[in-house]
Amino acid sequence: METDLFIAGKWVPASSGARFDVLDPATGDTIASVADGGEAEAIAAVEAAAAAGPGWASTPPRVRSEVLRKAFELMTDRASELAKLISLENGKALVDAKGEVTYAAEFFRWFAEEAVRGDGAIATAPSGANRILVVRQPVGVCVLVTPWNFPAAMATRKIGPALAAGCTVILKPASDTPLTALAMAAILAEAGVPEGVVNVVPSRSSGRVVSAMLRDARVRKLSFTGSTEVGRILLAQAAENVVNTSMELGGNAPFVVFADADLDAAVDGAMIAKMRNGGEACTAANRFFVEAPIAGEFARRLAQRMSALVVGPGTDEKTQVGPLVNEDTVAKVDELVRGALDGGAEAVTGGSRPDGPGFYYPPTVLTGVSADAPILRQEIFGPVAPVVTFTGEAEAVRLANDTEYGLVAYVYTGDLARGLRVSEAIEAGMVGINRGLVSDPAAPFGGVKQSGIGREGGHDGLLEYLESKYIAVDW
Ligand code: NAP
Repeated sequence: METDLFIAGKWVPASSGARFDVLDPATGDTIASVADGGEAEAIAAVEAAAAAGPGWASTPPRVRSEVLRKAFELMTDRASELAKLISLENGKALVDAKGEVTYAAEFFRWFAEEAVRGDGAIATAPSGANRILVVRQPVGVCVLVTPWNFPAAMATRKIGPALAAGCTVILKPASDTPLTALAMAAILAEAGVPEGVVNVVPSRSSGRVVSAMLRDARVRKLSFTGSTEVGRILLAQAAENVVNTSMELGGNAPFVVFADADLDAAVDGAMIAKMRNGGEACTAANRFFVEAPIAGEFARRLAQRMSALVVGPGTDEKTQVGPLVNEDTVAKVDELVRGALDGGAEAVTGGSRPDGPGFYYPPTVLTGVSADAPILRQEIFGPVAPVVTFTGEAEAVRLANDTEYGLVAYVYTGDLARGLRVSEAIEAGMVGINRGLVSDPAAPFGGVKQSGIGREGGHDGLLEYLESKYIAVDW
């Protein structure tokens, strides 16, 4: 497969000749060496995207739509090879990787459909003097920065709407998982995306490369998915040239179970909300708040299900939980769990890191976690479920909102009115009621508070790549 940079429709090495290694998280072994883009390549990619901009913006929406539809079909045809690639470089279990390919391809299908649904507005000014005509135009050159946890879906969730809107892009994938991004570039080229419309620049110097692009006045949009910490840095950098930004940042999702909930459904939902992607999801349930009368039983059943999961290399068909992506991630999970145990928590299952090789952490359930434990404050990003007891609706809402994050929340209850009341009171961009999964290409995905700005997916996702132009007309 291609391992060079993809700029202006061509595969090119870095001008410095530099390359970096991609590792298999199951063994720590090198699986590929990828061209290491620097500032020169980043600017060449901006050049290519700027040159391709007017042509792509004026390409009929129907044609843009059909290119995206073709990309959806190619991804679907190659689902199993793409899933293996994701699993190989990210470590996630094949079953999760297959789910990701389906989810990722759906963004191309959804935005193929949205490309021809461009809307505008017309109204009469209140004074009666003129008409107010609103047309939508593509924002322009977009820099897209993606994380390693969903290497395909986080890319298609940005490329799909950008291309549908008539924008051109430079994708800077996470350096742990550049291979999937390069495979996506090949698919898009095959689907008929003209040269320069999509450029992909993997790099180990992400900070320098992204800063260089943000300093280039031709760049008009930054769409970032990653940690809140890096999001803050990029928001400050984007301020220099007043670049339009969309930020999909970290989460600290509460999973609230009321005593009137269907306990079987709550445990099933908890397994999905916690263990999809082995816990390496921004939407992962991070804090389990369970009403006192059922808390013990919930923790017991959850631990039973967690301990029965098959842990192993992601590429093995039997595996349900793969290794985490890298050493830093597993060390952070281990530190959070040790902190909770030192503070008086008990591990009902799991709770200690196995010996190497590979970046494994066992599915873990903790009870008796103290309210100030860092594990309740920080994103765990691993297969660990801390369970905390509460009493009554007001306490559940207070605990759920006691965080600077606000991405997603899950609520289990047999009383729909309560479910809706609590959903409205929880500070989050998304809520699942009696569901452990909310992600859907047709729905607006995104957070409030320090979980981000803007939405991806749904019709809102398209609007992020369009500017409204108002024309005052006197006819
Ligand atoms: P990260 O460290 O913030 O990295 C994200 C991306 O930013 C990577 O491509 C990374 O490149 C790049 N980057 C790192 N430092 C940078 C800098 N100073 N300037 C410019 N770019 C920089 O996040 P991650 O560890 O890859 O991903 C996990 C995080 O993503 C979690 O916090 C998770 O919640 C969040 N996430 C959010 C959503 C959402 O929709 N809200 C979805 C998925 C993940 P390198 O790989 O080279 O460091």
